[in-house]
Amino acid sequence: MAGTVHIVGAGLAGLAAAVELAEQGRRVVVHEAAKFAGGRCRSYYDAQIGMTIDNGNHLLLSGNRSAFDFLRRVGGLDALTGTSEAEFPFADLATGERWTLRPNSGRLPWWILDSRRRVPGSRAPDYLAPISVLRASAPATVGDVMPCHGPLYDRLWRPVLLAALNTEPCDADARLAAQILRETFGAGGQACRPFIAAGGLSAAFVEPALRHLDARGADIRFGRPLRGIQLGQTRAEALEFGEARIELEPEDAVILAVPAQVAWALVPGLSVPDRFHAIVNAHFRIAPPPGQPLFLGVINGVTEWLFAYPDRLSVTISCADRLVDEPRAELAAAIWREVASLTGLAPELPRWQIVRERRATFAATPAQEARRPETRTSTANLFLAGDWTRTGLPSTIEGSIRSGLNAATALSRSADAPRQSRAAA
Ligand SMILES: Cc1cc2nc3c(=O)[nH]c(=O)nc-3n(C[C@H](O)[C@H](O)[C@H](O)COP(=O)(O)OP(=O)(O)OC[C@H]3O[C@@H](n4cnc5c(N)ncnc54)[C@H](O)[C@@H]3O)c2cc1C
Repeated sequence: MAGTVHIVGAGLAGLAAAVELAEQGRRVVVHEAAKFAGGRCRSYYDAQIGMTIDNGNHLLLSGNRSAFDFLRRVGGLDALTGTSEAEFPFADLATGERWTLRPNSGRLPWWILDSRRRVPGSRAPDYLAPISVLRASAPATVGDVMPCHGPLYDRLWRPVLLAALNTEPCDADARLAAQILRETFGAGGQACRPFIAAGGLSAAFVEPALRHLDARGADIRFGRPLRGIQLGQTRAEALEFGEARIELEPEDAVILAVPAQVAWALVPGLSVPDRFHAIVNAHFRIAPPPGQPLFLGVINGVTEWLFAYPDRLSVTISCADRLVDEPRAELAAAIWREVASLTGLAPELPRWQIVRERRATFAATPAQEARRPETRTSTANLFLAGDWTRTGLPSTIEGSIRSGLNAATALSRSADAPRQSRAAA
Protein backbone atom coordinates (compact mmCIF):
# COMPACT_ATOMS: atom_id res chain seq x y z
CA MET A 1 0.00 0.00 0.00
CA ALA A 2 1.89 3.05 -1.22
CA GLY A 3 -1.04 5.43 -0.83
CA THR A 4 -1.57 8.17 1.73
CA VAL A 5 -2.08 7.36 5.40
CA HIS A 6 -4.63 9.66 7.02
CA ILE A 7 -4.13 9.80 10.78
CA VAL A 8 -7.04 11.33 12.66
CA GLY A 9 -6.06 12.77 16.06
CA ALA A 10 -2.70 14.27 17.03
CA GLY A 11 -2.50 13.00 20.60
CA LEU A 12 0.49 10.83 21.44
CA ALA A 13 -1.07 7.78 19.76
CA GLY A 14 -1.57 9.64 16.48
CA LEU A 15 1.85 11.29 16.67
CA ALA A 16 3.57 7.96 17.37
CA ALA A 17 1.86 6.34 14.37
CA ALA A 18 2.73 9.34 12.21
CA VAL A 19 6.39 9.31 13.25
CA GLU A 20 6.73 5.59 12.54
CA LEU A 21 5.08 5.78 9.12
CA ALA A 22 6.80 9.01 8.05
CA GLU A 23 10.13 7.40 8.94
CA GLN A 24 9.20 4.48 6.69
CA GLY A 25 8.78 7.02 3.88
CA ARG A 26 4.97 6.87 3.79
CA ARG A 27 2.96 9.91 2.82
CA VAL A 28 1.25 10.97 6.06
CA VAL A 29 -1.54 13.48 6.64
CA VAL A 30 -2.58 14.16 10.25
CA HIS A 31 -6.02 15.69 10.87
CA GLU A 32 -6.48 17.17 14.35
CA ALA A 33 -9.75 18.70 15.60
CA ALA A 34 -8.08 21.14 17.98
CA LYS A 35 -5.77 24.02 17.11
CA PHE A 36 -2.90 22.21 18.84
CA ALA A 37 -1.44 18.72 19.11
CA GLY A 38 -0.85 16.63 22.23
CA GLY A 39 -4.43 15.82 23.27
CA ARG A 40 -4.42 14.88 26.94
CA CYS A 41 -0.66 15.34 27.23
CA ARG A 42 0.20 18.95 26.46
CA SER A 43 1.17 22.39 27.75
CA TYR A 44 -0.82 25.60 27.41
CA TYR A 45 -0.63 29.20 28.57
CA ASP A 46 -3.04 29.67 31.47
CA ALA A 47 -4.16 33.26 32.06
CA GLN A 48 -5.38 32.70 35.64
CA ILE A 49 -2.00 31.55 36.91
CA GLY A 50 -0.14 33.67 34.33
CA MET A 51 2.22 31.00 33.06
CA THR A 52 2.50 27.98 30.80
CA ILE A 53 1.46 24.80 32.58
CA ASP A 54 0.63 21.24 31.60
CA ASN A 55 -2.95 19.97 31.52
CA GLY A 56 -1.74 17.43 34.06
CA ASN A 57 1.50 16.28 35.64
CA HIS A 58 2.77 13.20 33.86
CA LEU A 59 5.25 10.82 35.42
CA LEU A 60 7.27 8.42 33.28
CA LEU A 61 9.32 5.52 34.58
CA SER A 62 12.47 4.38 32.79
CA GLY A 63 10.73 1.06 32.04
CA ASN A 64 8.35 2.91 29.67
CA ARG A 65 10.46 1.75 26.75
CA SER A 66 8.21 2.87 23.88
CA ALA A 67 7.85 6.35 25.37
CA PHE A 68 11.62 6.72 25.75
CA ASP A 69 12.24 5.36 22.28
CA PHE A 70 9.71 7.84 20.85
CA LEU A 71 11.44 10.72 22.65
CA ARG A 72 14.84 9.53 21.42
CA ARG A 73 13.60 9.37 17.82
CA VAL A 74 11.98 12.80 17.76
CA GLY A 75 14.68 14.51 19.81
CA GLY A 76 12.67 15.22 22.97
CA LEU A 77 14.67 13.13 25.42
CA ASP A 78 16.74 16.04 26.75
CA ALA A 79 13.53 17.73 27.88
CA LEU A 80 13.03 15.06 30.55
CA THR A 81 14.45 15.41 34.05
CA GLY A 82 14.91 12.35 36.17
CA THR A 83 16.87 10.76 38.95
CA SER A 84 19.91 8.58 38.35
CA GLU A 85 18.61 5.92 40.78
CA ALA A 86 15.12 4.59 41.44
CA GLU A 87 13.97 6.75 44.37
CA PHE A 88 10.44 7.36 45.58
CA PRO A 89 10.26 9.86 48.43
CA PHE A 90 7.04 9.74 50.49
CA ALA A 91 5.48 11.78 53.29
CA ASP A 92 2.62 10.79 55.58
CA LEU A 93 0.51 13.84 56.40
CA ALA A 94 -1.16 12.07 59.35
CA THR A 95 2.01 11.03 61.18
CA GLY A 96 4.60 13.43 59.74
CA GLU A 97 6.82 10.47 58.80
CA ARG A 98 9.07 10.69 55.72
CA TRP A 99 10.80 7.89 53.89
CA THR A 100 12.34 7.09 50.53
CA LEU A 101 11.73 3.80 48.80
CA ARG A 102 14.93 2.73 47.01
CA PRO A 103 14.65 -0.39 44.85
CA ASN A 104 18.11 -1.68 43.82
CA SER A 105 18.84 -1.48 40.13
CA GLY A 106 19.03 -5.21 39.23
CA ARG A 107 16.15 -7.63 38.77
CA LEU A 108 16.86 -9.55 42.01
CA PRO A 109 15.02 -7.40 44.58
CA TRP A 110 17.49 -7.60 47.49
CA TRP A 111 16.38 -4.10 48.52
CA ILE A 112 13.34 -5.58 50.27
CA LEU A 113 15.77 -7.15 52.78
CA ASP A 114 17.22 -3.72 53.67
CA SER A 115 15.02 -1.79 56.10
CA ARG A 116 16.62 1.53 55.03
CA ARG A 117 15.31 1.03 51.48
CA ARG A 118 11.83 -0.13 52.50
CA VAL A 119 8.64 1.51 53.73
CA PRO A 120 8.94 2.05 57.53
CA GLY A 121 7.18 -0.65 59.51
CA SER A 122 7.08 -3.11 56.59
CA ARG A 123 8.69 -6.55 56.49
CA ALA A 124 10.35 -8.25 53.52
CA PRO A 125 7.59 -10.89 53.05
CA ASP A 126 4.97 -8.09 52.76
CA TYR A 127 6.50 -7.19 49.39
CA LEU A 128 5.57 -10.56 47.93
CA ALA A 129 1.80 -9.84 48.01
CA PRO A 130 1.66 -8.69 44.34
CA ILE A 131 2.98 -12.08 43.15
CA SER A 132 -0.63 -13.25 43.08
CA VAL A 133 -1.43 -10.27 40.83
CA LEU A 134 1.35 -11.30 38.45
CA ARG A 135 -0.15 -14.79 38.28
CA ALA A 136 -3.72 -13.65 37.52
CA SER A 137 -4.83 -15.24 34.26
CA ALA A 138 -8.63 -15.07 34.19
CA PRO A 139 -10.39 -11.69 34.46
CA ALA A 140 -10.15 -10.63 38.12
CA THR A 141 -9.73 -7.48 40.14
CA VAL A 142 -6.61 -6.75 42.17
CA GLY A 143 -8.87 -7.08 45.24
CA ASP A 144 -9.81 -10.63 44.17
CA VAL A 145 -6.20 -11.80 44.20
CA MET A 146 -4.35 -9.65 46.77
CA PRO A 147 -5.32 -8.17 50.16
CA CYS A 148 -6.08 -4.47 49.66
CA HIS A 149 -5.34 -3.33 53.19
CA GLY A 150 -2.48 -3.10 55.65
CA PRO A 151 0.38 -0.64 56.07
CA LEU A 152 2.37 -1.65 52.98
CA TYR A 153 -0.72 -1.58 50.80
CA ASP A 154 -1.63 1.90 52.09
CA ARG A 155 1.90 3.24 51.80
CA LEU A 156 3.15 1.64 48.61
CA TRP A 157 0.92 -0.58 46.48
CA ARG A 158 -2.19 1.61 46.64
CA PRO A 159 -0.46 4.91 45.72
CA VAL A 160 1.64 3.31 42.97
CA LEU A 161 -1.21 1.32 41.40
CA LEU A 162 -3.73 4.16 41.79
CA ALA A 163 -1.38 6.49 39.90
CA ALA A 164 -0.78 3.95 37.14
CA LEU A 165 -4.37 2.75 36.73
CA ASN A 166 -6.37 5.86 37.72
CA THR A 167 -8.80 3.42 39.29
CA GLU A 168 -9.12 2.31 42.91
CA PRO A 169 -6.69 -0.63 42.81
CA CYS A 170 -8.96 -3.12 44.59
CA ASP A 171 -11.50 -2.68 41.73
CA ALA A 172 -8.88 -2.57 38.97
CA ASP A 173 -8.11 -5.27 36.42
CA ALA A 174 -5.41 -7.53 37.85
CA ARG A 175 -3.82 -8.22 34.46
CA LEU A 176 -3.39 -4.52 33.71
CA ALA A 177 -1.86 -4.04 37.15
CA ALA A 178 0.39 -7.04 36.52
CA GLN A 179 1.67 -5.64 33.24
CA ILE A 180 2.55 -2.34 34.92
CA LEU A 181 4.35 -4.18 37.72
CA ARG A 182 6.20 -6.46 35.27
CA GLU A 183 7.50 -3.54 33.22
CA THR A 184 8.55 -1.42 36.23
CA PHE A 185 9.06 -2.82 39.75
CA GLY A 186 9.33 -6.40 38.48
CA ALA A 187 12.11 -5.39 36.09
CA GLY A 188 14.22 -3.91 38.90
CA GLY A 189 15.23 -0.39 39.85
CA GLN A 190 16.73 0.39 36.43
CA ALA A 191 13.15 0.27 35.08
CA CYS A 192 11.73 2.46 37.87
CA ARG A 193 13.74 5.66 37.58
CA PRO A 194 11.16 8.45 37.60
CA PHE A 195 11.15 11.24 35.00
CA ILE A 196 9.09 14.37 34.44
CA ALA A 197 9.04 16.90 31.60
CA ALA A 198 10.35 19.77 33.73
CA GLY A 199 10.05 22.28 30.89
CA GLY A 200 6.54 21.13 29.99
CA LEU A 201 4.97 18.19 28.18
CA SER A 202 4.75 19.93 24.82
CA ALA A 203 8.46 20.80 24.81
CA ALA A 204 9.27 17.12 25.36
CA PHE A 205 6.62 15.16 23.47
CA VAL A 206 4.73 17.39 21.08
CA GLU A 207 6.91 20.12 19.57
CA PRO A 208 9.86 17.80 18.75
CA ALA A 209 7.43 15.30 17.19
CA LEU A 210 5.82 18.01 15.03
CA ARG A 211 9.26 19.22 13.90
CA HIS A 212 10.32 15.63 13.17
CA LEU A 213 7.18 15.07 11.08
CA ASP A 214 7.55 18.37 9.29
CA ALA A 215 11.13 17.48 8.33
CA ARG A 216 9.82 14.22 6.82
CA GLY A 217 7.19 15.92 4.72
CA ALA A 218 4.14 14.97 6.82
CA ASP A 219 1.16 17.28 6.39
CA ILE A 220 -0.41 18.26 9.74
CA ARG A 221 -3.77 20.00 9.59
CA PHE A 222 -5.28 21.59 12.70
CA GLY A 223 -8.89 22.62 13.32
CA ARG A 224 -10.12 19.63 11.28
CA PRO A 225 -12.60 17.53 13.25
CA LEU A 226 -13.52 14.35 11.40
CA ARG A 227 -17.34 14.20 11.25
CA GLY A 228 -17.86 10.94 9.41
CA ILE A 229 -16.26 8.00 7.63
CA GLN A 230 -17.93 6.63 4.55
CA LEU A 231 -17.59 2.88 4.86
CA GLY A 232 -18.00 0.57 1.88
CA GLN A 233 -18.29 -3.25 2.00
CA THR A 234 -14.64 -3.81 2.89
CA ARG A 235 -12.95 -0.41 2.80
CA ALA A 236 -13.23 3.12 4.13
CA GLU A 237 -14.04 5.16 1.02
CA ALA A 238 -14.10 8.77 2.18
CA LEU A 239 -13.43 11.02 5.17
CA GLU A 240 -15.91 13.80 5.90
CA PHE A 241 -14.76 16.97 7.62
CA GLY A 242 -17.92 19.06 7.49
CA GLU A 243 -17.57 21.03 4.27
CA ALA A 244 -14.43 19.21 3.14
CA ARG A 245 -14.43 15.61 2.00
CA ILE A 246 -11.49 13.40 1.10
CA GLU A 247 -12.10 10.53 -1.30
CA LEU A 248 -9.77 7.68 -0.38
CA GLU A 249 -7.77 6.08 -3.18
CA PRO A 250 -7.60 2.25 -3.26
CA GLU A 251 -4.19 2.22 -1.52
CA ASP A 252 -5.03 4.87 1.10
CA ALA A 253 -5.50 3.92 4.74
CA VAL A 254 -6.87 5.58 7.88
CA ILE A 255 -5.67 5.40 11.48
CA LEU A 256 -8.32 6.64 13.87
CA ALA A 257 -6.42 7.95 16.91
CA VAL A 258 -9.24 9.87 18.57
CA PRO A 259 -10.65 9.37 22.10
CA ALA A 260 -12.81 6.27 22.67
CA GLN A 261 -16.16 8.03 22.64
CA VAL A 262 -15.32 9.86 19.38
CA ALA A 263 -14.29 6.59 17.71
CA TRP A 264 -17.51 4.95 18.91
CA ALA A 265 -19.55 7.67 17.23
CA LEU A 266 -17.60 7.33 13.96
CA VAL A 267 -17.45 3.53 13.58
CA PRO A 268 -20.79 1.69 13.80
CA GLY A 269 -20.81 -1.26 16.20
CA LEU A 270 -17.39 -0.50 17.72
CA SER A 271 -16.93 -1.68 21.30
CA VAL A 272 -15.01 0.86 23.41
CA PRO A 273 -14.56 1.58 27.12
CA ASP A 274 -17.48 3.68 28.34
CA ARG A 275 -16.53 4.45 31.95
CA PHE A 276 -13.88 7.00 32.78
CA HIS A 277 -12.22 8.55 35.81
CA ALA A 278 -11.13 12.10 36.44
CA ILE A 279 -7.70 13.42 37.36
CA VAL A 280 -7.43 16.73 39.22
CA ASN A 281 -4.29 18.86 39.13
CA ALA A 282 -3.64 21.91 41.31
CA HIS A 283 -0.88 24.23 40.09
CA PHE A 284 0.69 26.87 42.36
CA ARG A 285 2.90 29.65 41.01
CA ILE A 286 5.73 29.53 43.49
CA ALA A 287 9.31 28.30 43.29
CA PRO A 288 9.90 25.09 45.25
CA PRO A 289 12.04 25.43 48.39
CA PRO A 290 15.68 24.24 48.08
CA GLY A 291 15.96 20.47 48.31
CA GLN A 292 12.35 19.78 47.33
CA PRO A 293 12.37 16.41 45.51
CA LEU A 294 11.22 16.26 41.89
CA PHE A 295 8.12 14.50 43.08
CA LEU A 296 6.82 13.36 46.45
CA GLY A 297 4.23 10.69 47.21
CA VAL A 298 1.78 11.83 49.86
CA ILE A 299 -0.24 9.54 52.13
CA ASN A 300 -3.32 10.48 54.16
CA GLY A 301 -4.11 13.73 52.35
CA VAL A 302 -6.16 14.98 49.43
CA THR A 303 -2.78 15.52 47.74
CA GLU A 304 -1.40 12.31 46.28
CA TRP A 305 1.71 13.43 44.40
CA LEU A 306 3.52 16.76 44.69
CA PHE A 307 5.65 17.71 41.67
CA ALA A 308 8.37 20.37 41.83
CA TYR A 309 8.99 22.34 38.61
CA PRO A 310 11.52 25.18 38.49
CA ASP A 311 8.75 27.81 38.68
CA ARG A 312 5.80 26.05 40.30
CA LEU A 313 4.54 23.33 42.60
CA SER A 314 1.88 21.08 41.28
CA VAL A 315 -0.34 18.41 42.81
CA THR A 316 -1.96 15.36 41.19
CA ILE A 317 -5.03 13.57 42.53
CA SER A 318 -6.07 10.41 40.66
CA CYS A 319 -9.49 8.78 40.36
CA ALA A 320 -10.77 12.16 41.51
CA ASP A 321 -14.42 11.94 40.41
CA ARG A 322 -15.43 13.02 43.91
CA LEU A 323 -13.64 16.37 43.43
CA VAL A 324 -14.84 17.45 40.00
CA ASP A 325 -17.79 19.45 41.34
CA GLU A 326 -16.03 20.88 44.43
CA PRO A 327 -15.77 24.69 44.45
CA ARG A 328 -12.43 25.45 42.83
CA ALA A 329 -11.19 28.11 45.27
CA GLU A 330 -11.93 25.91 48.30
CA LEU A 331 -10.18 22.99 46.69
CA ALA A 332 -7.12 25.12 45.88
CA ALA A 333 -6.99 26.44 49.45
CA ALA A 334 -7.35 22.96 50.99
CA ILE A 335 -4.63 21.51 48.77
CA TRP A 336 -2.33 24.48 49.40
CA ARG A 337 -2.64 23.96 53.18
CA GLU A 338 -1.24 20.47 52.66
CA VAL A 339 1.49 21.66 50.29
CA ALA A 340 2.55 24.42 52.70
CA SER A 341 2.81 21.90 55.50
CA LEU A 342 4.82 19.48 53.31
CA THR A 343 7.24 22.14 52.03
CA GLY A 344 7.45 24.61 54.94
CA LEU A 345 6.33 27.43 52.61
CA ALA A 346 4.19 30.30 53.93
CA PRO A 347 0.46 29.57 54.29
CA GLU A 348 -0.61 32.45 51.96
CA LEU A 349 -2.14 30.93 48.86
CA PRO A 350 0.01 31.74 45.76
CA ARG A 351 -1.54 32.25 42.32
CA TRP A 352 -3.16 28.95 41.43
CA GLN A 353 -5.10 26.99 38.88
CA ILE A 354 -7.16 23.83 39.22
CA VAL A 355 -7.35 21.66 36.07
CA ARG A 356 -9.96 18.93 36.14
CA GLU A 357 -9.83 16.37 33.35
CA ARG A 358 -13.16 14.60 33.83
CA ARG A 359 -12.46 11.82 31.35
CA ALA A 360 -8.75 11.59 31.96
CA THR A 361 -8.56 7.82 31.45
CA PHE A 362 -10.90 4.88 31.02
CA ALA A 363 -11.73 3.01 34.22
CA ALA A 364 -9.19 0.18 34.34
CA THR A 365 -11.68 -2.46 35.52
CA PRO A 366 -12.13 -5.99 34.09
CA ALA A 367 -15.47 -4.93 32.54
CA GLN A 368 -13.88 -1.97 30.74
CA GLU A 369 -10.83 -4.00 29.73
CA ALA A 370 -13.21 -6.44 27.99
CA ARG A 371 -14.58 -3.57 25.89
CA ARG A 372 -11.23 -2.51 24.41
CA PRO A 373 -10.98 -3.19 20.67
CA GLU A 374 -8.05 -4.57 18.68
CA THR A 375 -6.02 -2.35 16.34
CA ARG A 376 -7.50 -3.89 13.20
CA THR A 377 -11.15 -3.39 12.36
CA SER A 378 -13.45 -5.31 10.04
CA THR A 379 -12.71 -2.58 7.46
CA ALA A 380 -9.46 -3.51 5.70
CA ASN A 381 -7.92 -0.03 5.50
CA LEU A 382 -9.17 1.32 8.87
CA PHE A 383 -7.00 0.92 11.98
CA LEU A 384 -7.49 2.09 15.57
CA ALA A 385 -5.03 3.73 17.94
CA GLY A 386 -5.40 5.37 21.33
CA ASP A 387 -4.71 4.46 24.94
CA TRP A 388 -8.16 2.81 25.07
CA THR A 389 -7.37 0.18 22.41
CA ARG A 390 -6.19 -3.28 23.49
CA THR A 391 -2.57 -2.58 24.40
CA GLY A 392 -2.38 -4.69 27.56
CA LEU A 393 -1.57 -1.49 29.47
CA PRO A 394 -3.80 1.01 31.26
CA SER A 395 -4.36 4.49 29.88
CA THR A 396 -0.83 5.89 29.94
CA ILE A 397 1.71 7.61 27.73
CA GLU A 398 3.34 4.23 27.22
CA GLY A 399 0.04 2.63 26.23
CA SER A 400 -0.91 5.41 23.83
CA ILE A 401 2.49 5.41 22.09
CA ARG A 402 2.42 1.62 21.81
CA SER A 403 -1.10 1.80 20.35
CA GLY A 404 0.16 4.17 17.64
CA LEU A 405 3.06 1.84 16.84
CA ASN A 406 0.69 -1.15 16.78
CA ALA A 407 -1.51 0.63 14.26
CA ALA A 408 1.47 1.57 12.07
CA THR A 409 2.74 -2.03 12.17
CA ALA A 410 -0.68 -3.53 11.36
CA LEU A 411 -1.07 -1.09 8.47
CA SER A 412 2.39 -1.87 7.05
CA ARG A 413 1.77 -5.62 7.32
CA SER A 414 -1.58 -5.37 5.58
CA ALA A 415 0.13 -3.38 2.83
CA ASP A 416 2.89 -6.00 2.49
CA ALA A 417 0.51 -8.99 2.41
CA PRO A 418 -0.95 -8.41 -1.10
CA ARG A 419 2.53 -7.56 -2.42
CA GLN A 420 3.92 -10.83 -1.01
CA SER A 421 1.05 -12.88 -2.40
CA ARG A 422 1.54 -11.22 -5.84
CA ALA A 423 5.25 -12.05 -5.66
CA ALA A 424 4.51 -15.67 -4.73
CA ALA A 425 1.99 -16.09 -7.60
C1 LIG B 1 -4.50 14.85 33.88
C2 LIG B 1 -3.84 13.63 33.28
C3 LIG B 1 -2.72 13.08 33.89
C4 LIG B 1 -2.10 11.96 33.35
N1 LIG B 1 -0.98 11.47 33.95
C5 LIG B 1 -0.30 10.49 33.32
C6 LIG B 1 0.97 10.06 33.86
O1 LIG B 1 1.43 10.56 34.89
N2 LIG B 1 1.65 9.09 33.18
C7 LIG B 1 1.16 8.53 32.03
O2 LIG B 1 1.84 7.68 31.45
N3 LIG B 1 -0.04 8.90 31.53
C8 LIG B 1 -0.78 9.86 32.13
N4 LIG B 1 -1.98 10.28 31.61
C9 LIG B 1 -2.54 9.56 30.44
C10 LIG B 1 -2.02 10.08 29.11
O3 LIG B 1 -2.06 11.49 29.06
C11 LIG B 1 -2.91 9.54 27.99
O4 LIG B 1 -2.94 8.13 28.07
C12 LIG B 1 -2.43 9.92 26.60
O5 LIG B 1 -2.11 11.29 26.50
C13 LIG B 1 -3.55 9.58 25.60
O6 LIG B 1 -3.10 9.85 24.28
P1 LIG B 1 -4.01 9.43 23.04
O7 LIG B 1 -3.32 9.91 21.83
O8 LIG B 1 -4.35 8.00 23.16
O9 LIG B 1 -5.40 10.23 23.23
P2 LIG B 1 -5.68 11.80 23.24
O10 LIG B 1 -4.59 12.51 23.92
O11 LIG B 1 -7.06 11.95 23.80
O12 LIG B 1 -5.66 12.23 21.71
C14 LIG B 1 -6.79 12.20 20.88
C15 LIG B 1 -6.70 13.37 19.90
O13 LIG B 1 -7.80 13.29 18.98
C16 LIG B 1 -8.29 14.60 18.78
N5 LIG B 1 -9.68 14.48 18.29
C17 LIG B 1 -10.80 14.26 19.00
N6 LIG B 1 -11.86 14.18 18.18
C18 LIG B 1 -11.40 14.37 16.92
C19 LIG B 1 -12.02 14.38 15.64
N7 LIG B 1 -13.34 14.18 15.48
N8 LIG B 1 -11.23 14.62 14.56
C20 LIG B 1 -9.90 14.84 14.68
N9 LIG B 1 -9.27 14.82 15.87
C21 LIG B 1 -10.01 14.58 16.98
C22 LIG B 1 -8.16 15.24 20.14
O14 LIG B 1 -8.23 16.66 20.04
C23 LIG B 1 -6.80 14.73 20.58
O15 LIG B 1 -5.74 15.56 20.15
C24 LIG B 1 -2.65 11.37 32.16
C25 LIG B 1 -3.78 11.91 31.56
C26 LIG B 1 -4.38 13.03 32.10
C27 LIG B 1 -5.60 13.60 31.42
